Amino acid sequence: MTQSVTREDFDTWMVPLYAPAPFIPDRGFGSRLWDKEGKEYIDFAGGIAANALGHAHPALRQALEQQAAKLWHTGNGYTNEPILRLAKQLIDATFAERAFFCNSGAEANEAALKLARKYGHDRGGPEKSAILAFDRAFHGRTLFTVSAGGQPAWSRDFAPLPPDIHHVPYNDLEAAAKLIDDRTCAVIVEPVQGEGGVIPARREFLAGLRERCDRHDALLIFDEVQTGVGRTGSLYAYMHYGVTPDVLTSAKALGGGFPVGAMLTTDVIGRTLGVGTHGTTWGGNPLAGAVGGRVLELVNTPELLEGVRQRHQHFITRLQAINARLALFREIRGLGLLIGCELRPEYAGQAKTILRAAAAEGLMMLVAGPDVLRFAPSLIIDEQDIDEGLERFEHACRNVVGEGRL
Ligand SMILES: *Cc1c(COP(=O)(O)O)cnc(C)c1O
Repeated sequence: MTQSVTREDFDTWMVPLYAPAPFIPDRGFGSRLWDKEGKEYIDFAGGIAANALGHAHPALRQALEQQAAKLWHTGNGYTNEPILRLAKQLIDATFAERAFFCNSGAEANEAALKLARKYGHDRGGPEKSAILAFDRAFHGRTLFTVSAGGQPAWSRDFAPLPPDIHHVPYNDLEAAAKLIDDRTCAVIVEPVQGEGGVIPARREFLAGLRERCDRHDALLIFDEVQTGVGRTGSLYAYMHYGVTPDVLTSAKALGGGFPVGAMLTTDVIGRTLGVGTHGTTWGGNPLAGAVGGRVLELVNTPELLEGVRQRHQHFITRLQAINARLALFREIRGLGLLIGCELRPEYAGQAKTILRAAAAEGLMMLVAGPDVLRFAPSLIIDEQDIDEGLERFEHACRNVVGEGRL
């Protein structure tokens, strides 16, 4: 018999790392989701930018179920066809010539940073170890990636941290250029800072980093865990900017909701990690390969990517109209279907209050820090779901404003 459980059990049984919503999601289809009581939600959270094709997409289900009936896991003493096909799809679609697979964004960045240290040491000796990262960046929660992250609140409790990682303000090329020299092995940057507040890079910033990295034989790592796989309206955001990294990390949308991460790089750089220098038990398993392959096939079409850009425009237009009525936001920004609304200073710190009010109205969404509301819905969300979701959003905002909680 299945034990009955409630949301309160979370507070008793789980390590209290999260503060989940008061309801328990039960099933989803497309951009709609129902909780255990049968209440319906429109999903603008997209599993934190992971459910690129919504919930229970028939083609993804088919890929998963077909592979589940054949082979789940062998470990990396054996390769498998689904993961080789996914590698080739990614190579054909991007600058990359080699791929490494893992299970999450943090693992992909961990691999990228380890690759960069070894590449630096192989080429420049033990001194070539400096890593440049940016304030407010988010790269994951392993010790190395949380240290590269730009929020001390996420890392300081776990000191001592890996040394020789330096931070400067995002989009500040001058500050970055001062710290990039022959001792630098890598610069790691998000083309759009996601968790840090949905802040797009300026093109000249990324181009300038590219130029400095070339000059000093440092690897330029683009963390595209959140921006990758169609999220910005390009397959990867580097294509939108026209600045090509040496190493690119992808996860979130790559599995469409199934855990998979990838690090992509060139042939020469990839050869740095020879047999036995790095690895993972689950990374590159056939289930992840089969699902990721189908996701990429469906996302990497001109029609789908154009659809993301159209939905962006629709979202922005509607959000601006809401803002014209409520005057809540100082800025509405983002690329594709990664959209942020920064609250005006008088509402600072209230993003979570609005998120909770939205849940009560039947809308799932995200925040990016205390002052930014974030939307990362399915890339194929219906226009009707967008409109209805934004109506619920406006209700939630009005409720909060009306109650004088803002
Ligand atoms: C989510 C995220 C990560 C971490 O990915 P996990 O799968 O949670 O480990 C890393 N970088 C960026 C930019 C992200 O948005």
